[in-house]
Amino acid sequence: MPRERFAVIGDPVEHSLSPAMHNAALRAAGIDAGYGALRLAPHELGAGVERLRRRGYRGFNVTVPHKEAMFDYVDRVARSAAEVAAINTVICNGGVLEGHNTDSSGFVAALELHGLDVQGAKAVVFGAGGAARGVVHALLQLGSQVTVVNRTVEKARKLARDLGPASPVLGPAPVVVLAADDPAVTPAIQRTQLLVNATTLGMSHLASAGPSAGDAGSPLPPGVDLLPRTVVVDLIYGRQTPFLQHAAACGCRSIDGLEMLVQQGAESFRFWTGVEPDVDVMREACLRELAEVRTCSAS
Ligand code: NAP
Repeated sequence: MPRERFAVIGDPVEHSLSPAMHNAALRAAGIDAGYGALRLAPHELGAGVERLRRRGYRGFNVTVPHKEAMFDYVDRVARSAAEVAAINTVICNGGVLEGHNTDSSGFVAALELHGLDVQGAKAVVFGAGGAARGVVHALLQLGSQVTVVNRTVEKARKLARDLGPASPVLGPAPVVVLAADDPAVTPAIQRTQLLVNATTLGMSHLASAGPSAGDAGSPLPPGVDLLPRTVVVDLIYGRQTPFLQHAAACGCRSIDGLEMLVQQGAESFRFWTGVEPDVDVMREACLRELAEVRTCSAS
C-alpha cells in the first residue's frame, strides 16, 4: 500500500504550522501518510495543482493567496466552499478534486472554545480575502452584525454581495463595507464588540514568514484607541502581532489564530481520512513548532 500524501499550498507557506500539526495527527491516528508544504506563486497554481493530482495526493490545504483562485482548478465544489466562495481544503478522490471550506466552521469552533458568544454582537472584520470570507460567513451564521474594512474596497463589496442578501443560505445579511482609509472606520471600531484581523498585515512580523508576506503593520488606523470591552482576534497565529500588541495595550482581550488553525485543520483531516483526529495532539504539535521557531530566531 503506497504511503498517502497531503500538503498545504500557498505563497508564502514556510511559516505554516500545518505540516507539523497534520503529521502529528496522522502519526497519532496510526495512518501511514506524510503532509508537506509547497510554495506556489499565483502563476504556478494551475501547474502545481495538476502535479499534486498526477502524483496521487489524497488532499491538500490552500492558503494565502489562493483560496479564491482555487475554484478554477477543482472539478467539484462542495456546499461549504460555494457558500463562503473560498476553498481552503481539497479532497482528491481517484484524480477528481473537490473543493471545501473549513475556515468558517473552524472559526465558529474556535469562538466557542474561547467562550465567545457573538450573537447580536457588532463585529468589524479587516480584510476581504479568502480567510475573511470564512470569518464573515461564520459571524453572519452566528447572528453578528458585520462591517468589513479593506484596502481594496471593491473586493469588500464583492464579499458583501456574495455573502449578503443575494445569498440563498445567509438571507438578508446586511454587511456594511468601508474602505480602509474611510474616516468612518474609527467610530465603527469604537462601537464594536469584536475586531478581527483577517488581512496578512502582521505576517512579516513572523521571523519565518518569508519576504513576500504582508507588511509588518497593523490594519488599525494610526493612534486609534480601542475600548477595553472589545475582544480582538488576529487570524495570524503564535505571535504578538502589532495588532494584538495594540489591543493588549488598550486593555482588550486579545486572541491569536491558533485555535482556528487547529479547528479548521481537524475538519480537513476528517474529510480526508474519515477519522476523528486528536485535536490536543494537533494543538501541542503547533505549540512545539512555535517554541522551536522562537528558539531559532532568538539564537
Ligand atoms: P488573501 O486572500 O491573500 O487576502 C489578503 C488580505 O490582506 C486582503 O484583504 C488584502 O487586501 C489584505 N492585505 C494584504 N496586504 C495588505 C497591505 N499591505 N495593506 C492592507 N491590506 C493588505 O489571504 P487570506 O487567505 O485571506 O489570509 C489572510 C490572513 O489570515 C493570513 O495572515 C493567513 O495566514 C491568516 N489565516 C489564518 C487562519 C487560521 O486558521 N488561523 C486561516 C486562514 C487564514 P486587498 O484586498 O486590498 O489586497
